[in-house]
Amino acid sequence: MHVVLTGADWHKYWLKSLKKDKSIGLVPTMGALHEGHFDLVRKARQESDIVVVSIFVNPTQFHNQEDFDNYPSTLEEDLAKLELEKVDFVFIPKTETIYPEKPKLSIHFGNLETVLEGAFRPGHFNGVAIVVSKLFNIIKPHTAYFGQKDLQQTGIIRRLVNDLSMNINLVIVPTRREDDGLAMSSRNLRLSPEERKQALILSSSLTKAKQELLAGKPWFEVHNQIKRDFEEVPLASLEYFELVHPESFVSYTDFDLTKKSSLCVAAYLGKIRLIDNLPIIP
Ligand code: AMP
Repeated sequence: MHVVLTGADWHKYWLKSLKKDKSIGLVPTMGALHEGHFDLVRKARQESDIVVVSIFVNPTQFHNQEDFDNYPSTLEEDLAKLELEKVDFVFIPKTETIYPEKPKLSIHFGNLETVLEGAFRPGHFNGVAIVVSKLFNIIKPHTAYFGQKDLQQTGIIRRLVNDLSMNINLVIVPTRREDDGLAMSSRNLRLSPEERKQALILSSSLTKAKQELLAGKPWFEVHNQIKRDFEEVPLASLEYFELVHPESFVSYTDFDLTKKSSLCVAAYLGKIRLIDNLPIIP
């Protein structure tokens, strides 16, 4: 496994792989890797000749400095595990490599970015779109792998790729969960034992709401009950719990079995913000 630090470094490997007509799969991450990330890596390993994993904690997608400063980092373990997964290249750029200067460009996604994560994290998707575009331009993958855990991010990246006619195939991998249902996330490392226990409210509220909607309970009743459930969890503070179309992210006011739908939730456990989602009608 080669560790690559700059675009110029990668370019020579890229030229070789081009000559040999190899397919390149890219898995962009921010490190502190867990089994959810490895699901993406394994999918890439199955499908692509050359697997590149990037590890870069992108400052421009954080609107909360404290969250950025405290983002977990486990680089040595990450590298050892990626080696075991038979990854070919790990791209670990420095901030100055990705941002020699502050971008003037900003990318907006209309009503895709004014709801859910976009509404609560202003500028977040602009930062994501800029860094993903840079990674795509540097690595030039044929396929890029993303997790359904960040549902709205997958919608944003799909629009980025389509609107700019990028010739990149996107593969979306289902959410990996802990045995008790909590969606795996690097930020889970920052939860205290008590916050970790109470964080179960995210996944349990999603499954409960899904069951009730499918059993015919009206959405406004389900929604009100879930908000009350969150109020009973002392360390949790709900930001949103929405029933949305999984591609436009427009919120529904009623549940309809004939329309695609997903439930999306964001909540703080103490100071740690977690998100999760669950498809109902895919
Ligand atoms: P991150 O390092 O959090 O930026 O995540 C890197 C990639 O891994 C993104 O495409 C995420 O959606 C994906 N990912 C994060 N957590 C999970 C999970 N629990 N299951 C599947 N994919 C995930």
